[in-house]
Amino acid sequence: MGWQSLDAMDFAGKTALVRVDINVPIDAGKVTDATRITAVLPTIRHIAAAGGKVVLLAHFGRPKGKVVAEMSLRQVLPALEAALGHPVGFAEDCIGLPAKRVIGAMEPGDVVLLENTRFHPGEEKNDAELAASMAALGDIYVNDAFSAAHRAHASTEAIARLLPSCAGRLMEAELKALEAALGKPERPVVAVVGGAKVSTKLDLLGNLVGKVDDLVIGGGMANTFLAAKGVPVGKSLCEHDLADTARTILDHAKETGCRIHLPVDLVVAREFREGAAHEVVTTCPDDAMILDAGPASIAAIAAVFDAARTLIWNGPLGAFEIEPFDTATNAAARHAAALTKAGGLISVAGGGDTVAALNRAGAAADFTYISTAGGAFLEWMEGKVLPGVAALER
Ligand code: AMP
Repeated sequence: MGWQSLDAMDFAGKTALVRVDINVPIDAGKVTDATRITAVLPTIRHIAAAGGKVVLLAHFGRPKGKVVAEMSLRQVLPALEAALGHPVGFAEDCIGLPAKRVIGAMEPGDVVLLENTRFHPGEEKNDAELAASMAALGDIYVNDAFSAAHRAHASTEAIARLLPSCAGRLMEAELKALEAALGKPERPVVAVVGGAKVSTKLDLLGNLVGKVDDLVIGGGMANTFLAAKGVPVGKSLCEHDLADTARTILDHAKETGCRIHLPVDLVVAREFREGAAHEVVTTCPDDAMILDAGPASIAAIAAVFDAARTLIWNGPLGAFEIEPFDTATNAAARHAAALTKAGGLISVAGGGDTVAALNRAGAAADFTYISTAGGAFLEWMEGKVLPGVAALER
């Protein structure tokens, strides 16, 4: 871990430029889910309590380098003030005179939000000039936007090279959890990869096969592997054109000693709907589709979890949005949660659907760490360098 935390910095009397992800959902001008705002409060409070001035840099929506009134961060201000319990100043631009004026009037402990960084075309181009204009506003750069760290943007990458930089508390928590799961994990490590398609998770599978001891493949993507092994999959979601790719992954796993676990029994139905008539089979009839893993598969997954010390999870094991095809996902999630609670397992999960599935199963609270950073979490699992993190590691 080559980056520094907030504890390494002296914020007294300094202006800290803090990159946050407060790209929250808004309906009729009101924030409908403030989770991302709540998540950055510890960093804001730390700097303010240390006598620093907190200047927030953030993006909102996709204005594509133009000023778009509906994507003004001003709309987020009331929710930010409510969460912080403290007034927050606002500047109409994230650089130049408007920003300088507002920042110039700040006292230690004050918090100011700057307008949407993506109103400038240079933001998504990682433009050095824009980064320099932002850096000129402060003394220290803090990145607390792990979920934006997979993008090399001016406010996440270039700016970090211009000022003394560190990770905020949320970024620190994400990086520590991911390091514990894949960097230097306690072994055996098991990864669960599920979801709809193999094609969207090829890099993920490729990286994991070289790193983990056990790989549980589930959901629609398991069908592609079963078909590649000659198991009939009927009308199931299946990428038949990726059969060779699936076989290459299986061969690679043999070389690295990674044990691959595919479903050994299947829950099939003739319709994709809630409560559809279903049966447990080992090969899928021609007119049916696989929608979940069966009881023997659930037991096998539980046994793999029992033997593991670390679990990293992305993607559901079946069509979890419709009952009863959420059974395998729920059972595996609850088993992982129970093992974690008992102290035997470090469990880390992430990705949009995964968080929804674990919440549905009532298992999320007992996981060691749930990452809310969709794309950045996946890229990290894929073994890619996150530019926003690399810039902090200089
Ligand atoms: P992903 O976004 O790749 O993680 O995929 C999640 C989606 O995969 C969810 O909407 C699931 O309903 C779907 N899924 C999982 N297993 C199956 C399956 N056997 N057949 C069809 N869809 C599935």
